[in-house]
Amino acid sequence: MRVRFAPSPTGQLHVGNARTALFNWLLARGGDGTFVLRIEDTDAERSTPESEQAIVEDLQWLGLTWDEGVEKSGDHGPYRQSERTHIYRAHAVELLSLKHAYHCFCLPEDLERERYHALREGLPPKYSGRCREISREDARKRIEGGETAVIRLRVPENRDVVFADLVRGDVRFNTEVIGDFVLLRSDGSPAYNYAVVIDDALMEISHVIRGEDHISNTPRQILLYEAFGWRPPVFAHVSLVLGPDHGVLSKRHGATSVKEFRERGYLPEALANYLALLGWSPGEDQELLPLDELARRFRLENVGHSAGVFDVDKLAWVNRHYLKLAAPERLAQLSLSYLEREGWLTGASPEALAYLAAVVPLGAASVDRLEQISARLRFLFDYSAARTLEDEGLRAEALGARPVIDALADDVSTNGPMVDRETFRAMVGRLRERTGLKGKALLHPIRLVLTGEAEGLELDLAVPAIERGALVGPSSGLRPIPGAAARATAFRAALSA
Ligand code: GLU
Repeated sequence: MRVRFAPSPTGQLHVGNARTALFNWLLARGGDGTFVLRIEDTDAERSTPESEQAIVEDLQWLGLTWDEGVEKSGDHGPYRQSERTHIYRAHAVELLSLKHAYHCFCLPEDLERERYHALREGLPPKYSGRCREISREDARKRIEGGETAVIRLRVPENRDVVFADLVRGDVRFNTEVIGDFVLLRSDGSPAYNYAVVIDDALMEISHVIRGEDHISNTPRQILLYEAFGWRPPVFAHVSLVLGPDHGVLSKRHGATSVKEFRERGYLPEALANYLALLGWSPGEDQELLPLDELARRFRLENVGHSAGVFDVDKLAWVNRHYLKLAAPERLAQLSLSYLEREGWLTGASPEALAYLAAVVPLGAASVDRLEQISARLRFLFDYSAARTLEDEGLRAEALGARPVIDALADDVSTNGPMVDRETFRAMVGRLRERTGLKGKALLHPIRLVLTGEAEGLELDLAVPAIERGALVGPSSGLRPIPGAAARATAFRAALSA
């Protein structure tokens, strides 16, 4: 089995296209298949090398490695359509000789007029076939005389083209709606339907899996296979990815590109796992599975043909699962850009990374995506007693809890830093004895003073994180973190101010 992903490098990789790539990859990896990456850059105006690079990086990030294609070698290259022009021309000559194709000299304005009349009479706007009978000799003379021509396929009249789509079942089109379509434009560049057939055939693609927006192209492509006498591949058209309003997922729904999801802090394994679940189910009520296991279970026949509605809440659920599995060092690395953006970090030293590996997982345990990590870690890097006390309600609470706050300030200035759960709990025990308070009446003021926040991480995790942060050296690259003693002093001063 040989499958391919054939993106046009005209922008960022859309998650719908990433899902198409993923289905191809799953199919190849689930069997003994080969996955080919071909770049369809025949639209010279809209294709850019930057976009190709971005697509390559997104696929690599998702873990969708390919066996042949750009940035890899292979026996079926080149894998960039812009480098295959000679191949398209040679095959067009073959079709001309077989009389399956012909030169067409119609001017754009003639075609436009025909189109207009057809539409006015309620007919499908297809080419009339006016140049069909021009002989090759006449055509050659006209071209030598300076006229320009396109090459069109001679499409058989009134014939049904049927194919068995692996996702959608039998699909039937009549050639009456197709008309003789263009293979090569007058500048020699290939049209999509033509280039894709030459490439899929020469690259020996056995299964073409792509978005259902291409379904009406398939009969044209099958006609081309027939003209060459080639056996067409198996086709599978997967549904598009829709937004909650059932329109194709687009900017107005929020993030659409793999890059945006990456920047928001979704893990690649989470996005890939989620995309696999859009329109397919691995069965046995198990949804959260690593890519290789998904590949083992994947069957195209089980891909549903109803459209997949993108569900951000479900993606968040999948992401939370993988955030919990992720190694602390990896989470620390992935959080750096968000912390830098806040100004809490400039160039992470090994000491800063070690500290972050200890604290980022604490915050990551309660976020949907890593972009939210800074809000969870604000209590460490952005403590301000004065700002906390700007809130009237919190100030009133703090004023009412003066005995706790005074006892806390005394205690933390005489005892050493509470670097673990036990030393923190011992401190709470001493305060309970000294103030006679317990439960929320005791713990909430402690929370306010030490974290500056009314809610957050469990205190027996948060306080050791603060105390360990205060021990991080000044040249670590991290913004200095005040310890409990400094916080209690500052809080008391701000409350009296
Ligand atoms: N370049 C086409 C696209 O990006 C590929 C279509 C196909 O897979 O045949 O939509």
